[in-house]
Amino acid sequence: KKIIVTIDGWSSCGKSTLAKQLAQELGYIYVDSGAMYRAITLYFLRNHVDWTNPEEVHEALENISLEFVFNPISDRSEMHLNEENVEYVIRDLVVAEKVSEVAAIKEVREFAVAQQQQMGKGKGIVMDGRDIGTVVFPKAELKLFMTADNAVRVERRFKELFEKNPNISLEEVKANLEMRDYIDSNREVSPLRKAEDAIILDNTNLTPEEQFKKALRLVHD
Ligand code: C5P
Repeated sequence: KKIIVTIDGWSSCGKSTLAKQLAQELGYIYVDSGAMYRAITLYFLRNHVDWTNPEEVHEALENISLEFVFNPISDRSEMHLNEENVEYVIRDLVVAEKVSEVAAIKEVREFAVAQQQQMGKGKGIVMDGRDIGTVVFPKAELKLFMTADNAVRVERRFKELFEKNPNISLEEVKANLEMRDYIDSNREVSPLRKAEDAIILDNTNLTPEEQFKKALRLVHD
């Protein structure tokens, strides 16, 4: 039987790494819900949308089409915004600086959540994010909530970003993660929370391999 696996948690604690591994092993689709909020933010930034104005938000969303497109070269699904591959640009700190503000807007969330729920219909799916176990798929069969020590998370994200941009500083990355976690867990609309029935996975001292084995055991239980 195909199930729904949700993976929520703090920024940069390895959610997507685990989600991808599980999806591949199980033959499920993997959906990176954060990529959708990042793509919407990119659109708002590029088009100078004043997102404090609900009318502008509404109009902008009507012009946004999001799609995950499989790329055989990278062997993964990549985020397309109005038919443009934005998978790499949305990882920029410029987007990360604003994404939590945008993701706190009710209409933005309704827009993204409706599409996320559609993707889960009748398929095996692993989705990671902040509100997947609480709001998007409250009835999911397996819910994981990931955490890791702050210093470990900062270090990991810094390494990732530094590879693409050697001008980036550790302080900048640290400040961004702290700010996002703060906004994400304090916003009014579906704040980041552990679902009551979610299992906590702390990977501070786990290699991706160990973490994967642990999660896989939970899937098969
Ligand atoms: O997962 P990622 O770090 O790429 O997510 C970027 C941002 O998108 C988060 O910091 C959060 O503000 C928002 N997000 C969200 N709900 C989700 C996934 C991401 O609010 N389900």
